[in-house]
Amino acid sequence: TRPEYEYTVKTSHSKAWIEQAKQVMPGGVTANIKHFAPYPLVMKKGKGAFITDVDDRQYVDYLLAYGALMLGHGHPEMKQAIDELLADAGTFLFGAPHPLEVTFGQEIQRLYPSIERLRYTNSGTEATLLAVRLAKAYTNKTRLAKFEGHYHGGYNDVLYSVNPPLSEAGPADVPCAVQESMGIQEKEREAPLILPFNNLAACERLLREHQASLAAVIIEPLQGGFIPATPGFITGLRNITKKLGILLIFDEVKTGFRITLGGAEEWYQVKPDLTTLGKVIGGGFPFGITGGRKEIMELTSPAAGADLFEQSGSRFSRAKDVVFHSGTYNGHPLILAAGLKTIEVLQREIDSVFAVTDTLKQELEALFKRKGVPMKAVGTGSIFNVVLTEHDILNYRDLQASDLAIRKMIDLLLLNEGIYTKPLNRYSLSTAHTEREVERTIAAYDRVLSRLVG
Ligand code: PLP
Repeated sequence: TRPEYEYTVKTSHSKAWIEQAKQVMPGGVTANIKHFAPYPLVMKKGKGAFITDVDDRQYVDYLLAYGALMLGHGHPEMKQAIDELLADAGTFLFGAPHPLEVTFGQEIQRLYPSIERLRYTNSGTEATLLAVRLAKAYTNKTRLAKFEGHYHGGYNDVLYSVNPPLSEAGPADVPCAVQESMGIQEKEREAPLILPFNNLAACERLLREHQASLAAVIIEPLQGGFIPATPGFITGLRNITKKLGILLIFDEVKTGFRITLGGAEEWYQVKPDLTTLGKVIGGGFPFGITGGRKEIMELTSPAAGADLFEQSGSRFSRAKDVVFHSGTYNGHPLILAAGLKTIEVLQREIDSVFAVTDTLKQELEALFKRKGVPMKAVGTGSIFNVVLTEHDILNYRDLQASDLAIRKMIDLLLLNEGIYTKPLNRYSLSTAHTEREVERTIAAYDRVLSRLVG
């Protein structure tokens, strides 16, 4: 039978739910990333390393909500921490300062020494938005530089060249800015300067040329969380940006706590000016952090504009020397408790997550080798991706040149076998993933590859 037919037979309830969902939400989804062809699976519960769909089929979960769930689903200690806070505080949202904001922040300062001051947000998107606004305010410059293939959330400044068609992307060393969405009115704003990842000479040339207008370079230190910047590239970029008066923003929403507890900053021993965190550190709840050098972060301090703030009676401070940052749910105590528990558990168990991830990578590579299919498990720590190639993977274009069509086919067949990640997505592991899940995964891959290549 054809894989797609098998999929529709096994997941008929998901199919029916998605048909209904289309009458409620455009495309049947409430985040475009949840969609895939022929239709996404509808999940109803999770426990440990497993999730269950509406057809009652169980999957080993390697998506883990795009990497957010590093303790797996329903970790008992996490549940207890939240229950305790709920019982203690009654209602847990105050719209006023809360002691956990400080306790939690001190943990972040300890793990990320470049973060001298921080602010909490409700998503990674909000975190990078604040970082970019701060960089523009601090440098008094207007333009952002970002890398081709890097994702920083869903607003106009950064919705360029995340997944551009190569036919529109221009030369590799001078990439064009390709819009990722309709409705971005280019005339009203400057498109970001697009940089080629892991090409230091080209970046240096572009940064020098545009120095006068550039407020900041924002980067995923490991592209997509799994393609590492070479050490020479990241230290080179740090040196050039410093020399040119351009701020360097590490977007560690994926890499934070996942490649090592202290993220790319610890892994490379390089200090950015600003950092954004999210995903893992929210313990599965909506969360983000913007942090960095004191003198930049202090621009959000209301002290300077306090009088004006109060007199105007407005939520919006009009003081020119304050960078606006507010939000009803910022620093939600329940999420801070979840984040603190996440750090506590990871301090104990992160090494075993790395060990299980390494075993899975090695066994997958060995299996593909036996089957004669070129494959590299690209990544470090608790994230990697299965890239069908025999070449080195250094950037977006290398990834596009790998065999994405076969990878998609493998992913669909794996869904039929009870191994879950969104087709083409990377693999994230959690403290709940053990050698048992690795064995199950390898056996499923073996069946899938035998079917494809014999
Ligand atoms: N930055 C990076 C590197 C991300 O991977 C993501 C999400 O995938 C974001 C920012 C946006 O975070 P959120 O989805 O929480 O808005």
